[in-house]
Amino acid sequence: MVSRVIPVEVFDLVIFGATGDLARRKILPGLYRRYLAGQVPAECRIIGAARTDLDADGFRALVTAAIDEFVPADRRDPKVIADFLQRLDYVSIDAARGEAGWTTLKGLMRKGVVRAFYFSVAPALFGELAEKLHSHGIANAHSRIVVEKPFGRDLATAKALNATLASHFSENQIYRIDHYLGKETVQNLMAVRFANILFEPLWNTQYIDHVQITVSETVGVEGRGSYYDKSGAMRDMVQNHMMQLLCLIAMEPPYHFDPNAVRDEKLKVIRALQPVPPEDIVRGQYLASKTAPGYLEDAENPESRTESYIALKVHVANWRWKGTPFYLRTGKKLRARASEIAITFKEPPHSIFDDAAGWRENVLVIRLQPNEGMNLKVMIKEPGPGGMRLVQVPLDMSFAEALGEEGADIPDAYERLIMDVIRGNQTLFMRGDELEAAWAWTDPIIEGWEARGDRPKGYDAGSSGPEDALMLMHRDGRRWREVRE
Ligand code: NAP
Repeated sequence: MVSRVIPVEVFDLVIFGATGDLARRKILPGLYRRYLAGQVPAECRIIGAARTDLDADGFRALVTAAIDEFVPADRRDPKVIADFLQRLDYVSIDAARGEAGWTTLKGLMRKGVVRAFYFSVAPALFGELAEKLHSHGIANAHSRIVVEKPFGRDLATAKALNATLASHFSENQIYRIDHYLGKETVQNLMAVRFANILFEPLWNTQYIDHVQITVSETVGVEGRGSYYDKSGAMRDMVQNHMMQLLCLIAMEPPYHFDPNAVRDEKLKVIRALQPVPPEDIVRGQYLASKTAPGYLEDAENPESRTESYIALKVHVANWRWKGTPFYLRTGKKLRARASEIAITFKEPPHSIFDDAAGWRENVLVIRLQPNEGMNLKVMIKEPGPGGMRLVQVPLDMSFAEALGEEGADIPDAYERLIMDVIRGNQTLFMRGDELEAAWAWTDPIIEGWEARGDRPKGYDAGSSGPEDALMLMHRDGRRWREVRE
């Protein structure tokens, strides 16, 4: 299959926080990979900005090291790297203090090219950056800003952040990143649903028994314990990433694949989410093992009630979904590192086969990681002369296998999203009202367990989470799928 890479327009991209973890791991290696793919034109310029005192060569050395560390060896072409480094520049700026650096930055910006500003810094600095970009005349009506998560920690802070950004930029200039939306499989959800006649007629409560969304991590809080302790799994994963996945599964077909049409439909889903009663919420904290500390030690807070695991049963109150629960679970230090969406269909209305033939539900599994792909479990006859016995087999489509070389080289979510910023396509970015609606649903859930003084249940590191989470499903006569790497 021939890959079609369409170069984007010429741009000046300023990365605030260019010396930080996200820039080094994702943004800069991602830009290099797009350059290697021929999508970033040679006339583009990438300007790093942070407080660290560096000159352009110092920044190039930092980017070279990041490419060495985060781009696989077979994608590191010395000539292309050398070329890419020539696109880089650096300005030392302290966003919180003083005016130094801003005039230099202004001098570097060119007329007539796309201007984008990536705020890869703590959210507390977003307001300062937006204000300075305006007061120095660096941002214009065609500029774009990219903001990272977390976008607030509740509805009030998200509203305040939206208001701050809105005082300098219009909504169509603001790109709120949720990197889950940049994943190939996640976009494929829309392709599968709306480019095939096969699934959509069945995509409702009449035919779908339930949906499971799982984001399971094997790592703990990895040295960021005290930071994580202020958020927890609900804020860190459910309010944004898992909510977005749920929206793409549950939304009505947009009238067109257009940013606002898609986001309007997602917003309707979020608004239709019902409050979650306490019995449909299970929170957990991983326990210490013989070799590793538990969550409380990692969080450096022996009294912490923050969850490193959460499972929820969620209802979407509309005609399509009334009666079909969505079970969400995510956690750290679990058995496997895997993310998937599993859609379990109902039984056929009448079985012509004896019970002894064996029957199991059809399940459509969309794997986000590892090995992105889809798998539809269907019933067939077991081969051989043993009579009519049914067996479930997977119709398995690993993108890497199905799409050959192109599938094996799926761009990272950040690469795709940054290219979308340059293209001016907001489809895969969260709109302000969507984000506020997500917090409006999340806040009462968190306030509820805070008011009740609930303590998360302990679970063993390397397990599949707290026992109570199993009960959440068993109670309904269902089971969590076993996730494997
Ligand atoms: P980080 O490693 O702490 O980097 C922060 C960056 O901001 C550094 O480049 C730092 O450089 C710069 N900075 C700090 N104060 C500054 C100031 N006053 N003026 C200008 N620059 C300043 O953080 P990160 O992990 O890269 O995260 C960046 C943002 O992305 C955060 O909002 C985070 O929540 C979000 N995020 C990160 C990840 C991830 O995987 N890392 C994932 C999702 C979202 P100097 O010290 O040189 O100034």
